Amino acid sequence: MISTMRTLLNTVAAISMIVATLSAQQPPAPLFSQKTIDEARQIHAAALRSDKAYEWTAFLTNNIGPRFSGTPQAARAEQYVAEEMRKLGLDVELQKLKVPHWVRGEEKAELTSWPGMAAGTVQKLVLKTLGGSIATPPEGLEAEVVVVENFAELEKLGRERIAGKVVVFNYRYDRRLSDAGFGLEAYGQAVQYRGGGAIAAARYGAVASLVRSAGGSQNRLAHTGGMRYDPAVAKIPGAALSHEDADMIAHLAKQGTVRLRLKLTPQTLPDADGHNVIADLRGSELPDEVVIVSGHLDSWDVGTGALDDAGGVAVSMQVAYILKQLGLRPKRTIRFIAYANEENGLVGGREYAARESTRIEKHFAAMESDLGVSHPVGVLYAGRPEVGAAIDPILQILRAQGSGLTRREGGVGADIGPLTQRGVPSFAPWFNTRKYFDYHHTEADTFDKIDPDEMKKLGALMAVLAYALANANGPLPR
Ligand SMILES: [Zn+2]
Repeated sequence: MISTMRTLLNTVAAISMIVATLSAQQPPAPLFSQKTIDEARQIHAAALRSDKAYEWTAFLTNNIGPRFSGTPQAARAEQYVAEEMRKLGLDVELQKLKVPHWVRGEEKAELTSWPGMAAGTVQKLVLKTLGGSIATPPEGLEAEVVVVENFAELEKLGRERIAGKVVVFNYRYDRRLSDAGFGLEAYGQAVQYRGGGAIAAARYGAVASLVRSAGGSQNRLAHTGGMRYDPAVAKIPGAALSHEDADMIAHLAKQGTVRLRLKLTPQTLPDADGHNVIADLRGSELPDEVVIVSGHLDSWDVGTGALDDAGGVAVSMQVAYILKQLGLRPKRTIRFIAYANEENGLVGGREYAARESTRIEKHFAAMESDLGVSHPVGVLYAGRPEVGAAIDPILQILRAQGSGLTRREGGVGADIGPLTQRGVPSFAPWFNTRKYFDYHHTEADTFDKIDPDEMKKLGALMAVLAYALANANGPLPR
């Protein structure tokens, strides 16, 4: 009886202990403390007042100019950014790299024969050689044109109709999409011809590949960009036509034979020196854990790369500037990176991830801004679906400026891509891309395209999110 009683008492005691334990259990500590939220609000207000990113962008674009890999301007920009970050008191490192060195040379094209022409005339074509392209013969080449809308049409024509000719891929960048705010999606559809057109055309014996620009310029500008070769397929020169000229050629080719003369003299030189500029604002409690804020410092050799991507570099630089201004030190290290060689090689992003391969786990989060400077509608993220909800308290701050949306993507930035693929939660500003691709990779990507007020909002988004992540109470889902 006593033993039964004792068992019962023990059971009661055990149950009450469990109940006590359960009721004593607090809800899990929030990812962002009230202090962090309050500081993030301060950062938000300071960033909306700051012109610093705008000034840095002006210097990178107007004073230094295009920053193509292997050029003296690229080297000067690396030194400039490193110096500015040293001035802020950050630990700066230049990660040595070998980057591709391609030089554009001369680019000239004209129609020499078409239905209804005035005898003895030519029609000038506006085009840009694609990055990585080989040259035409030094004297140029002259050949008949064959226009196709897409790869399927090319295949249907076959070798017999294509061999010895210049293929014009006339796939249209979809302006209805970009006008609706989906420029990135329109670009995604068109860019496969820029990247793979020369390979596809060469398989059928074409002598050159011209693609309608993967972009929305309305001012007879051609959009350059990278192209690929396949070691198993002959290399032929590749260039992008302005969409006006692509339209004209397509119109004339429907009427009869069109011939053109093409001279491109690009050169691929031995790899050049380049650097990732890496600057740490060391964390106070968890200095080994890093939150990356980044953009890419190189640009194409046309325009001055203001939207792509001096602006992204400058708003990332500004994160540390704002924190220093407010005397705030993050718990984790905020690591600024200006990546080298995004445009024609992605060496910077790949080499950084390779160097950090044993410390990927220490990368708490990575952010990159590389889709221009326009009003950010929110934050894109790549990683576990729960990440979106986890950062909601921060988005509440950004909702005050109309930047409170989140959307999950497979990847959010080319340079941080290798980190994303290895599980690092990744973030980028979510832009309306209505106008970005009108200027992307053209002569018109210049400083005047930056709206200082939009840049302030972008800078605020970067600084608020980076600081909050660097101060989070626990890890993000990964
Ligand atoms: Zn870019």
